[in-house]
Parts: sequence; C-alpha cells; structure tokens
Amino acid sequence: MALTPTRAHLRWPFFAAEHARWADRVVEVAASLPVEKPDVDGSCRALVRELGAAGLLHASVAAQGADASSIDSRRICLARELLAWHDGLADFAFAMQGLGTGALSLAGTPELRRAVLPKVATGEWIAAFALSEKDAGSDVAALQCAAVADGPDYVLTGEKTWISNGGIADVYTVIARTGDGPGTKGMSAFVVYADDPGFSIAERIEVIAPHPLATIRFDGCRIPATRRLGASGEGFKIAMRTLDIFRASVAAAAVGFARRAFDESVAHAKERHLFGGPLSALQLTQAAIGEMSTAIDAAALLTYRAAWLRDVERAPTTREAAMAKMTATESAQRVIDRAVQLFGGRGVRTGEIVERLYREIRALRIYEGATEVQQLIIAREELRDRRSHSVPRARSASATATPRGSRTSPRTSTIWSAWWRSSSRRPARPGRCSSPRGRSARPRCVSTSPSPPRGCMATSSTGRCRC
Ligand SMILES: Cc1cc2nc3c(=O)[nH]c(=O)nc-3n(C[C@H](O)[C@H](O)[C@H](O)COP(=O)(O)OP(=O)(O)OC[C@H]3O[C@@H](n4cnc5c(N)ncnc54)[C@H](O)[C@@H]3O)c2cc1C
Repeated sequence: MALTPTRAHLRWPFFAAEHARWADRVVEVAASLPVEKPDVDGSCRALVRELGAAGLLHASVAAQGADASSIDSRRICLARELLAWHDGLADFAFAMQGLGTGALSLAGTPELRRAVLPKVATGEWIAAFALSEKDAGSDVAALQCAAVADGPDYVLTGEKTWISNGGIADVYTVIARTGDGPGTKGMSAFVVYADDPGFSIAERIEVIAPHPLATIRFDGCRIPATRRLGASGEGFKIAMRTLDIFRASVAAAAVGFARRAFDESVAHAKERHLFGGPLSALQLTQAAIGEMSTAIDAAALLTYRAAWLRDVERAPTTREAAMAKMTATESAQRVIDRAVQLFGGRGVRTGEIVERLYREIRALRIYEGATEVQQLIIAREELRDRRSHSVPRARSASATATPRGSRTSPRTSTIWSAWWRSSSRRPARPGRCSSPRGRSARPRCVSTSPSPPRGCMATSSTGRCRC
C-alpha cells in the first residue's frame, strides 16, 4: 500500500482551517512531482517551475503591495515538512525561492520587488541567498566580499561559497562588505543577476545529497546602486531578519524527513518476518518505534510553536526557532539512523528511501546555524532575560488571531546577532528596545500604527514603546 504523509498534527491549536486546506494542496502537488533525478540542475529547474505553476511558491514571497510580515511561517513549515516527506529536492526547490528573496521582500524598493518577486513566485526565475564565504561560515562577521560605491553603481569583488542554487539561479541576494562600520555593521545587501558583468560560477560543489551548489565569484561585478536593499550598513540586519523568517522551516523539513523514515520503518517492521514472526512483534523494535514516534512529535511541537509565535503572537522567536532547529535536525538524524537499522542490509542499499533520507538529513545540522551555534543562542537567551519566556499577557484565543499588542519583552530577533553579541561579549542592555526601531536614533518607538513592524515593542492601545 502506498504511504501518505500524516496530517494528524493539523488538529493542534497552532493551526487554523486554512492550514489544513493548504496541507491538502501541498500533498496533492507533491504526489504529482517526479522523484527520479537524472540530472540535478534540470530536475531542480523543473521542480521550481512545477511548484510555481501549482501556486505554492506564492507562500514564500511577500504579496504584491505587502511586506514580509505577509509571509505565514506555518504555511512555509507545512509545505517544507510535506515536500520533504515526499522528496528532499522538492523541499529544497521550494525553500530556496523564499530564502533567496526574503531580503527583497523585507527591504527592496517597490520597483525592484515588482521586477523580481512575481518571477520568483511563478517559478520563472530561480533565487539564491549568498552569505557564506570560505573563511566566514559560522563566523559571519569575518566576511570579506566587498562592494565599493562608484558613482551611480557598486562594484563587487570577492567570492561566496556553499551557495544553494549556485549555477542555476537567475537572481542572488548577496551580503557584501561596504565598510560603513566594523564587523557586522559594515555590510550591505544587494540583488545581483546571473547575467551581470563580472559575475561567474567559480566552482560547482558536489554533496552527499545532490542539489545545485556552487562557489560564486564577483570580479569587478558592476551593479546599479538601486539594487542595494535597505540602507548602506544594514546588510547583516537584513540577512538575519531573512533567516529569522525561514529558520523554523529547516526544522520542519527535518520533521518531514523523520516522519518519512518512521512511516517506512513501521510498514517494513510489519511486513518483514524473522524468528517466526513479524519484526514489529519484537519488543526491541517496539522500543525503537516508541522512541522514534515521540522524538518526531516533540520536534514537530517545537517547530510549530516557533512558527505560531511568529505568525500569531508576532513575537521574536530567536530562542524558540533555535530550539526547534536544533532538536528537529538532531532527532531526525537519530530517527533516520534507527530506520536504517530496522531495514538491515536493505537500509544501506543505494536507491532505498531510508538510504536517501540518511544522506538528505545530514546537512541540515550544519547550515543556517550549526547545532553548536543554536546551543549558544539558546543559552544566551536563557541567561539574558528569563522574563521573556513567560506567557504573553494578551494570549490569543485562536490560531488566526493576530494580537499585535502582545509582544514579548525585548530580545534580539536574530540567530546570528544573538550569537555575535555573545561571542563578542557585548553586555546585554535590559530596558532598551532591541527592535530595529528601538535601536535607531529614536530610542523610543512612537509608532501609532495598529500594525507596528515586527520586533517593535509598541502596543496598539497606547502606540508607545513599552521598553
Ligand atoms: C548543503 C549546504 C547548503 C548551504 N547553502 C547555503 C546558502 O544557500 N547560502 C549561504 O550563504 N550558505 C550556505 N551554506 C553554508 C552554511 O551556512 C555553512 O556551512 C555553515 O554556516 C557553517 O559554516 P562552515 O561550513 O564555514 O563551518 P565552520 O564555521 O568552520 O564551522 C565548523 C563547525 O564548527 C562547529 N562550530 C561552529 N561554531 C562553534 C562554536 N561557537 N563552538 C563550538 N563549535 C562550533 C560546528 O559544528 C560547525 O559545523 C550551506 C552549507 C551546506 C552544507
């Protein structure tokens, strides 16, 4: 009997009715996607086109006229979980369209957004996010790729590596050093097109779970200054806010891989006979199944809690997303390893689903912040401000409600800035708003909007910053 992914967790209070409909649609689309990969680049291009044609990619880019807060994290997480259950490359194709344009959704000019986002949302263009360098992976502040202002242009020089979709992307978000300040304060974000003069692919990188990956080179790559995203010097902040939107979705993909391994294991354990009965009748098998099932639910609960917090409570999710990413990726690795063990020799045979999952899961424990970085972030948050973990005052009654005034206390809203602050031993400054507005020249946010921007501590009732 053909397996289908569970949607039982859609009954959890994190979800609204529209999420169940969305999940059904994702499952329907996923089932129609090919899993065979004769050529990774061609397969990835085809997957992006098909996901675009099916309307799924609209979920990962800001809607026309709306900002990045229109992106619903629970939809992204559900899509990634269900696509990953089906096929790692389908999940990858979906995820990168959002990550590759998140900065543009957040900080692009209306003209630039109009030029790029509709093409990415329909799958006509492929997007990539270029932050990492050879000597700047976990240590983002060490990045060297430079962008120098030259009249109406910027000229980019340097390399980025480990760039997903490198080699097939049409548009890249690039974080480069503009020298406005030291370390992370001296970076800006840019949009670079694959056909810009001076842009090239330096090297294609092959990994254990094949997908398009490359080192990209900027050799005096000249782009108009209008392609800078946000203000000069804001690149790090924009990159971190981009990761903030999509971080919990890495956990969701891990949940999808783990659920598939679990489903395959249960089916196998019932079918495979040894010692005069089914493998599932052996108590050690039942112990494994009990542990796998519990680990998956724990990871899923953390994942959808983080997504719900961002969507509904409009709260910073640094701690929750780090917990979700760390737990889901680490436990998925253990679940999949257990699945391989339950399959015996078949588990390591090329072409078996659990063998593929064993390769697919590994990189998730490294990218978008390795497990060790997540541990430091969680510890940092715990040591810094215990008050922020209490239940928000204005708890929403439903998963669809959006109580804008229920923000939690000031906390950094990014993985890397939390890590950077901790590693550079910057003292926390309790009592000062950590939101972009709060850190600006106006220390007290005076927004009177009923929908203040994410991270702002303003309440809709008073319109005053609470910090
Ligand atoms: C498949 C894949 C896809 C990727 N896609 C992209 C992409 O699209 N765009 C992009 O910009 N980057 C991408 N990356 C890069 C990824 O984000 C980096 O690999 C990651 O940040 C780790 O950096 P690094 O490889 O330089 O390892 P390093 O920074 O050298 O870290 C090595 C290891 O050190 C450990 N470590 C790190 N910090 C600490 C610490 N403080 N204490 C103790 N141990 C620590 C961790 O185990 C870590 O894995 C991708 C990577 C992979 C593998």
